[in-house]
Amino acid sequence: MPDEEIAEEGVLTPLDTPVQDPLLREILAENQLTDTPQEQAQPTSSKQEEVDCVVIGLGAGGAPLLARLAQAGLKVVALEAGPWHDPTKDFATDEKAQSFLFWNDERLAAGGTPLAMGRNNSGTGVGGSTLHYTAYTPRPLPDDLTLQTDFGQGEDWPLTYDELAPYYEEVEQFLGVSGPTPYPWGPARAKGYALPPLPLNSAAQLMVRGADKLGIRTSPAANAALSAPYFQEGVGWRQACTNRGFCQAGCSNGAKSSMDVTYIPIAVKYGADIRPNSFVTEIERNAQGLVTAVVYTQNGQQHRQACRHLFLCGGAVETPRLLLLNNLGLTSGQVGRNLMAHTGIQVWGTFADEVRPTKGIPGGLISQDTHRPKDADFVGGYLLQSIGVMPVTFASQAARGRKLWGQAMRDYMRKFNHVAGINILGDCLPHADNFMELSDELDARQLPKPRIHFTAQDNEVRMTAHAEKTMRAIWEAAGATDIWSFDRYAHVIGTARMGRSGDDAVVDRDGRAFDVPNLYISDNSTFPSALSVNPALTIMALSLRTADKFLERERRRDA
Ligand SMILES: Cc1cc2nc3c(=O)[nH]c(=O)nc-3n(C[C@H](O)[C@H](O)[C@H](O)COP(=O)(O)OP(=O)(O)OC[C@H]3O[C@@H](n4cnc5c(N)ncnc54)[C@H](O)[C@@H]3O)c2cc1C
Ligand code: SF4
Repeated sequence: MPDEEIAEEGVLTPLDTPVQDPLLREILAENQLTDTPQEQAQPTSSKQEEVDCVVIGLGAGGAPLLARLAQAGLKVVALEAGPWHDPTKDFATDEKAQSFLFWNDERLAAGGTPLAMGRNNSGTGVGGSTLHYTAYTPRPLPDDLTLQTDFGQGEDWPLTYDELAPYYEEVEQFLGVSGPTPYPWGPARAKGYALPPLPLNSAAQLMVRGADKLGIRTSPAANAALSAPYFQEGVGWRQACTNRGFCQAGCSNGAKSSMDVTYIPIAVKYGADIRPNSFVTEIERNAQGLVTAVVYTQNGQQHRQACRHLFLCGGAVETPRLLLLNNLGLTSGQVGRNLMAHTGIQVWGTFADEVRPTKGIPGGLISQDTHRPKDADFVGGYLLQSIGVMPVTFASQAARGRKLWGQAMRDYMRKFNHVAGINILGDCLPHADNFMELSDELDARQLPKPRIHFTAQDNEVRMTAHAEKTMRAIWEAAGATDIWSFDRYAHVIGTARMGRSGDDAVVDRDGRAFDVPNLYISDNSTFPSALSVNPALTIMALSLRTADKFLERERRRDA
């Protein structure tokens, strides 16, 4: 599946549709309310005792650094708002039943191009959004980090590709990323991918057919699902992908390298105290402005956890929300601002051949030939990826994109097994109109709901038009009929950006807040620019780097 299909309309929390099948209803009822073995087994250290580090949020930004800090022998507590699932029991081949994987609290969407929330943007649970991500893990190309230098627009990163490269390699090897060696785009690499590429699903094969005719190079994508059994240091053997195709519903055999089956077991092994279902609301400080403790609610009970350092990894909506709620790290005036969302238009076509879009690894094929197109009338660039899709997701997109309903929708969905899609993932420039703020409306916890303002600007519109033309041409060359496009934006990015100075950035290149020395941020929010690639690999790489820089600083202080 491409990155992120949009199942829900606009701003509202999706309706909780009752499950129709009585047997499935019974199974779900049995499974839903019991704690997972992980939840029952966790030792909980005294909640009064001061610990070295508290980590808030266990997604791509939180889990790698949690493991690193625990491995360094620090006393670490992780507070995660969502549950700790048992993949073998909780993840099913049923996209509606799996909607609990998404962050479904209401968020308000505003602006000219309001962003769909819910499953379009973020997850919850031990593993965060990686529980449902498609696991595309391309590296950015070096000039993704230098938009301002190259185009005079957008932002440069305060880090170079070469500084990040060793971390990309470490994450790829640790997760067991499957992909082509050598990789066709970008600089030569010291090491190839850990495993050979995964097999291409039908949409990917059709995309190859069309792209070949147009001279557009394609390649099996880098994907953090295992193409063969893989021995992971500190974790043990993990099973290969069975091509079930429901990666966005959670991977039940652990072949997809989500954080719960990779970095979290390491963290646990080294003594991290993981507290699921723990929603942080307050961050306390002393007279010097240093963080001293966090307050959170777990199973209806409020707790306080004292800490010497705080790592905030709540994702690009909840991280700035917590900062704004607690009046923390706001000196630069940039918290909530510089909000970006990847351009993500999809183009669908119908084929005479049977496609069966639910089958096979959904994150299969990539082309980065469109990274800097010669005829571009926009800043930055985009990549092309093939799509695998689940039926309810596809139907909801057809309803939104084609305005189909009733009989017309039923007729179109009869062709579901013959549809195939391509999407892009492209840059987005920060703009003053795009930001996140606290609204006046309160949620069930009596906290202000976040309001996310997003309006696609000229650059995004021009890039989207270029991409739509390219993808339509690929589908025409591949023999598709009834081609249509679905314009969309996904991934909230950049709301607590990193930079060289506290005048215009919230954190420095090591993820450390400029104005609160014992506060670190590690998630999608610190990206200064959106990058023209899927974000998770970079979030994980930055997470490890942030931990290393923190540990170096601590060692220097102790020396
Ligand atoms: C459907 C879908 C498919 C995707 N596919 C891909 C892909 O193929 N490749 C890719 O690179 N990216 C993909 N992405 C994007 C990617 O998953 C995210 O960008 C990335 O995982 C975000 O990581 P994060 O650590 O910033 O935030 P998250 O993973 O969202 O983690 C934040 C965590 O913090 C917790 N939290 C938040 N607030 C609090 C609080 N107050 N107290 C305690 N805990 C809190 C949340 O519960 C959550 O677990 C996809 C996204 C979606 C929606
Ligand atoms: S396709 Fe592979 S990685 Fe995805 S859910 Fe199935 S087994 Fe897991």
